Order: sequence, then structure tokens, then C-alpha cells
Amino acid sequence: MGHKSKVRTGFSEFSKKLYANNKNKILKELNASEKDWNNPKWQLKNRISDVDELSKYANLTNEEYENIKKVSEKYRFAITPYYFSLIDFDNPICPIKLQSIPDIKEFEEFGQLDPMKENQSNPSGKITRRYPNKLIINVTNACPMYCRHCQRRRLIGNIDKHTSKEDIDESIEFIENNQTIREVLVTGGDALLLSNNKLEYIFDNLSDISHVEVIRIGTRTLATLPFRIDDKLASLLRKYKVQVSTQFNHACEITPEAVSAIDTLVDNGIPVRNQMVLLHNVNDDKYCIQKTNEELQKYRVISYYLFHPKDVKSTKHFQVDISKGLEIMKHLEGRTSGMCKPTYVYNSPDGLGKVPLVPMENVEFDENGYKFTTWENKIIKKG
Ligand SMILES: *Cc1c(COP(=O)(O)O)cnc(C)c1O
Ligand code: SF4
Repeated sequence: MGHKSKVRTGFSEFSKKLYANNKNKILKELNASEKDWNNPKWQLKNRISDVDELSKYANLTNEEYENIKKVSEKYRFAITPYYFSLIDFDNPICPIKLQSIPDIKEFEEFGQLDPMKENQSNPSGKITRRYPNKLIINVTNACPMYCRHCQRRRLIGNIDKHTSKEDIDESIEFIENNQTIREVLVTGGDALLLSNNKLEYIFDNLSDISHVEVIRIGTRTLATLPFRIDDKLASLLRKYKVQVSTQFNHACEITPEAVSAIDTLVDNGIPVRNQMVLLHNVNDDKYCIQKTNEELQKYRVISYYLFHPKDVKSTKHFQVDISKGLEIMKHLEGRTSGMCKPTYVYNSPDGLGKVPLVPMENVEFDENGYKFTTWENKIIKKG
């Protein structure tokens, strides 16, 4: 790549043209209007989810067609027309394409379906709990777009299914009975695929529990279905002081539409933080990550985590060496804002939790005391 100015963003002229062309093609094919396009329900109903549909908009070779067909029989795909329109099919490693279109490499032998053993840290309902003071409720297995790198692929299955009211109630009851829980993460899947009514039911019940101090939701709609974010939703989140975690992995996902969704949240006082996943060929480049995080900061999103990819079956082609992640962290230090510098995290297998990773030379110590290395590689000693 060479320089951050070379990284394609959702605001580049190239991206805007690409989006307009793809969008027009789809609207024409589906005989739909601009109003339909901006309607999240229309976007969900018209997800591109089989290879024949896909081949209407992309010139697939026979081999590509057969590969996508084969892979999608095992691991289904679904892409909102919006997200699909950001794909540059002329680029074999288009970050949008790599994240959304099935790849024959998914059959490469590797990893496990549930390396975090999340299924084993389920005390009740749809809860995943690994820490004393915070836990996750999985409220749905559905997402607007199924990321090919998803760590929860095992939950996607063959149908979209929201968690039953019984399971939600059981999860809430568990939280009620466990006074150490101060923070609840409502996620999935994508929490914002629930209707506002269902979300309100959950938020309302959680806020009635006196020891629950913080509610957080996990959603990728800002990148995959930005039209889901509107003033009504923002008022609901504001009412219950809900904080938002999202996932942008590349600057080309930060489009005018995405920024409009960010603005709707942030203008309503809702904090938005990014949890990026380090992915081979998508973003494993120091300039790409710098640029993406700087775009996010420009639009008031703080870079919270950079996740090292987990050893999830079918994601071998996304794996990156830890040394690469550390090199990226070293690069960000001093070269960009602290707000663009996430915590780089390794998720320990078997549910042992997150481990923050920092370049080893940052702090060393021996019998003479500490040795620090600054961002310009100056050595400082402290007795
Ligand atoms: C990541 C995670 C959390 C939230 O952790 P934070 O570091 O507070 O963002 C909570 N529970 C589980 C099981 C997690 O994996
Ligand atoms: S949005 Fe999250 S849960 Fe859904 S497929 Fe992508 S990574 Fe998985």
C-alpha cells in the first residue's frame, strides 16, 4: 500500500461511482425506487443470498460460480444490496468482497467452530458469561450481512431466528439474581435486527435492575445496513443510555450513508466505539488501519479494540501473525491520535478471556530497573 492517502475510503470519488453504478443496476433489476433503497426492511427482504442472484450483478467465471455455490451450501451467505454495492469486483482482494462473498478457501482445514467455548459458558437463557461483572445476552442469530470471518459462524445456521421471549426472560432473571453483574451487552448476531419494541422490552427490564449500571449493544448495521439507524431508534437508545459497539474493518466501509447513521447516534449523545477485526488482505496493513481509524475519529467514533482473528474453522485465509498486529500497533503509536489507537486483543481459547497485546519492547525490566522504548525507538531507563 505504501501510504495512508492510498487507502480507498467510502468518500473517494472511485467509491462513490462504484456505489452509484451497482446501486442503479440493482434498483433497475428489482424495479425499485430510491425510497425502497433507504428502507431497512426493503434492504433485508432483498438481501443477495444465492449465487444465481449474485451472478446478475457480478461477472462470475464458471469456476467462481461453482465455488460460491459449493461453499454457500455449507456456509450460507446473505448481503444487503447496500453493502453489496460497495464491492469492487475488479479487485480480487476488495475488502468488502472478502468479507461478504463465499470463498473456496473456507474449506481449508483449520481451527474449531467454537474456539472460545462460548457454548460452555452459558449459565442460563441466551447468556455468555466469562467475567464476574459483565455478560452477553444473544438476542438473535441474524445479521444483515454474514461476515465470512464471523467468530460465531456456528450460530448462523440455516435460518434467521430471534431469541424467544422465554429465553430473554430467563436471561433477564439470571441477571436480576446475580448482583455482581453491572454491565450487560445485548448482542447476537446483530442486536439492531430486533424491532424497537423488542429492544425497548429488553432495555426496560434491564434498567429496572438496580445493579445493572450499563447497557451496551453490539451492531454492525452502521456498516451493513445504515438505514436501520434513525431518530426513533436514537431516542430509544438515548432514553436507556445505551452505548454502541460496532465493527468497521476498512475505510471503504465508511461511506456517506454510514456517517449519516453515526451522526444520528452521536448527535443524540450515544457513544459509538469501533471493534475492528484484524483480517488478512482486508486490513492487515499499518496504513490501512491508521486511515480507517482516522476516518472513524473524524466522524466521532473511538477505536476501542483491534481483535486478533480467532481460530475459527473456515477462516484460515483471514489469519494474521501476531507479529503483524504488533507492528501495526507500533506504527500507530505517536503517528496518530490516541483516539485512533485501539487496544490490540487476543481472545484466549476456551473462554479464558481477552488478553491485551503490546509491542514487547515498550516495557522491559531486569535487576537494574525498567527500560522503555519510545515511538521513535529512543531508549529510556527508569531505576
Ligand atoms: C468481550 C466480552 C465482554 C466485554 O468485554 P469488554 O472488554 O468490556 O468490552 C463481555 N463478555 C464476554 C463473554 C466477552 O467476550
Ligand atoms: S455482524 Fe458480527 S455476528 Fe454478524 S456475521 Fe458479522 S461478525 Fe458475525
